[in-house]
Parts: sequence; structure tokens; C-alpha cells
Amino acid sequence: MFTDIGTIFAKKMEGTEVSLRGWAHRHRTSGKMVFVTMRDSTGIIQLAVKQDKVDEKSWKDANDTYVESSFMVKGNVVKDERAPGGYELQATNFELVSKGEPFPVAKDLSEEYLLDIRHLWLRSQKLTKILQIRSTVIAGIHEFFQKRGYTLFDPPIFTPNACEGGSTLFEVQYFDRKMYLTQSWQLYAEAAIFSLGKIYDVAPTFRAEKSKTSRHLAEFWMAEMEAPWMNLDDVVQVAKDEVKFLVEKVLEKHEEDLKFLGRDVEKLRKAISKPFPTVKYSEVLKILEEKEQMQVEWGKDLRTVEEERIMNHFETPIVVTHYPKEIMAFYKPVDPKNKKEALCFDMLAPEGFGEIVGGSQRSIDIKEIEEGLKKEGEKIEKYQWYLDLRKYGSVPHSGYGLGVERVVRWICGSDNIKDTIAFPRTMARFEP
Ligand code: ATP
Ligand code: MG
Repeated sequence: MFTDIGTIFAKKMEGTEVSLRGWAHRHRTSGKMVFVTMRDSTGIIQLAVKQDKVDEKSWKDANDTYVESSFMVKGNVVKDERAPGGYELQATNFELVSKGEPFPVAKDLSEEYLLDIRHLWLRSQKLTKILQIRSTVIAGIHEFFQKRGYTLFDPPIFTPNACEGGSTLFEVQYFDRKMYLTQSWQLYAEAAIFSLGKIYDVAPTFRAEKSKTSRHLAEFWMAEMEAPWMNLDDVVQVAKDEVKFLVEKVLEKHEEDLKFLGRDVEKLRKAISKPFPTVKYSEVLKILEEKEQMQVEWGKDLRTVEEERIMNHFETPIVVTHYPKEIMAFYKPVDPKNKKEALCFDMLAPEGFGEIVGGSQRSIDIKEIEEGLKKEGEKIEKYQWYLDLRKYGSVPHSGYGLGVERVVRWICGSDNIKDTIAFPRTMARFEP
């Protein structure tokens, strides 16, 4: 019977004999002793292999071990204040499973090299912990929406239409014609709410982002929701609740992992300790002018630098609403109270992590949608099916998309979004 390393610490298994399977994280010999730091998916533990406590084969195997060799070990758990976690395993048997070759990952290697050997660097403590946190975030998204009675709805990935503008579309050969990889599930979600009601999904999303930033991937996962009868205020509230819920889930389960990653956990706790404010775009411009001496012309989108500067004034995420209609996608409706503004929102994370959620009420005015499509240079015929949704039992509805990697990046405090996905895809990075 094998146990895992995490269980030894969780159950304080001092004084018991255990068997473990895993890999060598570090390895050092010292006379009649071999010290191995062993890792499995649940943690790391120090092993001491003493020549006079094991048979000849075990001693040879323990000495022959490379960093990242796989092995099985049997031994007694003892308390040792100097060992990481306070326990050490004193081996009674050690058996190599695969010695392999000397491992190429050493310390202080460049970011690019670590990306080249991503298939091996995945084994690092850093990536292991981030990917475990990512798993908790995605499980949290399902839990959040399932508990609220939403239905999971999966959209197609090949699409004939654009949703977020032609410039970031990935074209693919689809038999003898061209199709695109999905930029958002939204248009299809809008068709599904008529039967399924409130729906959500977490799905791969593709955008041919040509600029190099620390928050854009070409392939990322978006958690989206769409709901009939909801207006802008309603969905903004759902988004605030969701983000708070996800951070709480991670704090509950991963406080130690966050500390290992160097995250200031208190800042994260503070970020969800108060309600997130909602601020209009035009108020943001005012704050930028008054407190940051920054002039942004009304009508210009907020760039990264403006998003960073506005967040100097908030410790929690904020929701910015009512961006200029002129620069918004075709499906975002004008505010009847001010025809220059759209009923839409972005949520910005604190500490300069930028936009994590984008959403809106959806236009149900066929004329307005057609004009928007024309302005974006789209062919209206290709959107007839979408316009049909406004012809038969149309209802007010709204939705948003949350970038999984953006949220994981903020929660973990990672410098780059590439750290939050196992095999990142950007314009410059597509292997392995
Ligand atoms: P940005 O202005 O940062 O490019 P966007 O306005 O294009 O974002 P939306 O179309 O509103 O983003 O998409 C919804 C969410 O999906 C964003 O809030 C963000 O969290 C995430 N997202 C969008 N583009 C990317 C990307 N290229 N890589 C990772 N996440 C993304
Ligand atoms: Mg974008």
C-alpha cells in the first residue's frame, strides 16, 4: 500500500512505516548517507538513506539516483526540525524505477529556455502549484454556477462568424472552405438561453493577438455566462460574486501554495474584504485627470497604462461601466439615457493586473446590431441566424466572459500570463 507525501504531513504520521512512489527533486551524497528530497504531486519530503540500514541493492540505487529519476521507497517517518515540513523519512528500502539520464533543468536558466523545455519544467514546484490553483479556480467556476442553477452549455469551436472583431481571428481550412476558431461562445450562448435559461461554460478560446503583452495568449480558457431577463446591473453583480467566490476557494485551499509563490496573501484577502465598487468610464477619466494628472480623451479605450493608474486608487477589483458606444462591439446596446454610452462593463483587478472580466447587456434592436456590424465591416447575411434570435420571442439578456488565466495570474501574483497555462500559445511561442 502506497501513501502520498501530503498525507504524511496532513495526518502527522510520525512513527509509522510508509511506502512512497515519486521522483528525486534534489540528491546529495555524504559518506555513508544519501539525502534525497522526494516529490510527488502532493508535496516534498526529505529522505535519509543510511548505508547500514538498507540492503546492498537499495544502497546502490539510492547512490545512482539522478535528479528526476523515479523510485519507490519504504521507511519510517521521524520528526526532524531541520527537515522541510518537520518530518524526514528514514529509508529501509529504496528501489529505482527509472534512473533515466541527467536532468537538463538547473537553476538560473532563462525564461525562454524554460519555455523550450516546458514539458520538463512542468515538474517544477512553481508550475505544479500554479496548475493546482488553476484546477481549483475551474472547479470553483463550475461550483459557483451549478449552485445557482445554471446549465452547462458547450458552444462550437469552429465558427463561420467573428464575435470580437476580424483582426484577431484564426482562420482554419475547413474541408474546402475557410472557418475560424472561436473568439467567444457568446453568439451561440445567446441562441441557447431561449431554451436553457441561465447558462455557463469554461472553454478554449482563440485570438490572434499580435502584440506582446504579459496578459494576452493566443489560446486561453474563458469562463462565460449568459442569462435571459438580466440587465447590466444584474450581470455585474454575478461577476462580482463569482470573482469573490473564486478567490475565497483558492485562499481556503492554497494559502501555503500562494506563500510559496511569493504572493502577498494579505493583499488578496483585502481585495475581497469589501464590496467591489462600480465606476462609470467617464468617472474613471475624471479620477485619472484629478489624481493622476492623466488626460484621456472621452471616446478612447482605456489602455493598460490607464488601467494600472486607476487601480492606484483601489484595493479591490473595480467594475467600469458605460464605455463609449463608438468603440464597442456590435452587440453592445446604447444606454437609452445617454446614447453615447454602451451598457457594458469590464472588471479590473487590483495591483496592476488589468482586465479580468468583460461583459454587457446585449442589444435586442435589429437596426442597432445591423449598423454595428456594418461599421465593423461584417457581412450582415452571415449574421441572419443571430438576428433571428431578435425576431422570435426576444428578451432582454446579458452575459460576460472571465479570463481563466487572467484570474489565476492575479491570484498567484504571476509576472506573466504564460505561467498560468501548461503549454502557452502566443505569436512567438507554440512549441512544445
Ligand atoms: P483586452 O482588452 O485585455 O484584450 P478584451 O476586451 O479583448 O480584453 P473580452 O473580449 O472582453 O476581452 O474577453 C473577456 C475576457 O477574456 C477578458 O476580460 C479577459 O479576461 C479574457 N481575455 C481576452 N483576451 C484574452 C487573451 N488574449 N488572453 C487571455 N485572456 C484573454
Ligand atoms: Mg482583446
